[in-house]
Amino acid sequence: PVAGRRRLAGGVLPPILHPMTAALSSEPNFSICVYCGSRPGENQAFADVAAQVGLWIGRHGGQLVYGGGRAGLMGVVADATLAAGGRVVGIIPRVLVEREHAHRGCHELHVVETMHERKRLMAERADAFLALPGGIGTFEEFFETWTWRQLGYHDKPVGLLNQDGYYDAMLAFLRHSVACGFMGEVQMGLIEVNADWRALLGSLVHAAGFPAPDLLSQI
Ligand code: AMP
Repeated sequence: PVAGRRRLAGGVLPPILHPMTAALSSEPNFSICVYCGSRPGENQAFADVAAQVGLWIGRHGGQLVYGGGRAGLMGVVADATLAAGGRVVGIIPRVLVEREHAHRGCHELHVVETMHERKRLMAERADAFLALPGGIGTFEEFFETWTWRQLGYHDKPVGLLNQDGYYDAMLAFLRHSVACGFMGEVQMGLIEVNADWRALLGSLVHAAGFPAPDLLSQI
């Protein structure tokens, strides 16, 4: 597949293009949407892993699609992707431009009118989704992407990084839901949960139909 080009959005405002965009001639090797906290979290491990994820995306010639802010883990993952030479697409609702400190260093910064538009565009521009630690915004995005997969609105891989056991309690509740008969193993099988960010990223990119990560850097 061509990275991030499946089902391109139509009818949206032109993005703000960073001058650096003109210098990037090659297509990204893959495009991954990262959902994560607009706060950094108390545990330094969360910011560290967000930086590792961004560096990995950049070093493998990938594209980060995210919420377009500089705040919290969102800013960390974007800055790390940029520092490693990756492409960054930020998508942010107009009302959040100030609050989430819209990132002017993105190769494309889309300022959209609604949260729905943001999520739709993020989903369209990505080949796979990864949720890192975060708060209710992150939960909402992760669960919506998962439910869209269940409903067949997309067939892209969805991953959850259980860094330092951050999602243990949520995963226990999800298993409780299965035990209570409100969900099946089928739904659980639609997400990939891993505490190892490197293994998870490689698996998601591979599942999205791109070459194995160790081969990507040789392309
Ligand atoms: P949080 O995890 O709460 O720090 O939020 C992470 C990101 O999710 C931020 O960019 C929020 O703007 C975004 N967000 C918050 N609520 C929603 C929502 N209902 N749908 C999509 N994104 C949201």
